[in-house]
Amino acid sequence: MTGSATQLMRVSHLTKRFGEHTVLDDVSLDVTAGEVKGIIGPSGAGKSTLIRCLNGLEPIDAGEIWLDDTELTARKADMDALRSRIGFVFQDFNLFTHLTVADNLMLGLRRVRGLKRAEAETIARRELDRVGLAEKWRAYPAELSGGQQQRVSIARALAMQPELMLFDEPTSALDPESVGSVLRVMRELVAEGMTMIIVSHEMAFIEAVADDVLFMAEGRVVEEGSARQIFHEAREQRTRGFIDGIA
Ligand code: ADP
Ligand code: MG
Repeated sequence: MTGSATQLMRVSHLTKRFGEHTVLDDVSLDVTAGEVKGIIGPSGAGKSTLIRCLNGLEPIDAGEIWLDDTELTARKADMDALRSRIGFVFQDFNLFTHLTVADNLMLGLRRVRGLKRAEAETIARRELDRVGLAEKWRAYPAELSGGQQQRVSIARALAMQPELMLFDEPTSALDPESVGSVLRVMRELVAEGMTMIIVSHEMAFIEAVADDVLFMAEGRVVEEGSARQIFHEAREQRTRGFIDGIA
């Protein structure tokens, strides 16, 4: 892979279709280590599809995705190995409802990392503590609020020690009181230097934490720039219309 040593992910000319419908059209982006990239745009823009492609959850039709010097989109890519380097936080938490918080946290550590129970438990407890939910170790997801479930989901991703964290509208399914607790955890990750791609409609949050913002519409990157540029000095009418409409 060409480029600077700090480049962590490179997406070039990505195209994704569902049947006749082109959902991602020639999307390119670079992520450097330690960068926080925000992705904003209207519903149906292709944000979720993009982020799912970045984690190998969707096959692509054209283009390439590289993580460091490994091509995710290569036919022989070891997807399990690649996915264990990328944490994914979904809008709807995606916790296993029949498992306790402890077992949700330890599952990947044991099955993917192959750790012994005691080792997995040490890491899982540390990550649960980090999101402020140590006392929920034995709880089931249904016993937690939405915000708590999302924090468990973040802890589960962090337990795998990912190089990159992907967030797809992590607060959209939450009641307003829960949003702040999840954003607080995400701010701590930013402060720790975690590399993150965040799809969100929380404009104030994105503006505060993102180094770089992509505005997407109809499967294309309409505009990319600093948070300041996108939110206050957008070049494209389409971008300004979206920002003004949501503010
Ligand atoms: P966003 O997250 O920006 O709202 P999505 O990536 O969810 O956008 O969707 C982009 C477009 O792709 C939408 O038109 C949506 O209907 C379509 N789409 C998403 N997933 C599928 C799928 N599994 N099959 C067919 N069409 C899909
Ligand atoms: Mg979406």
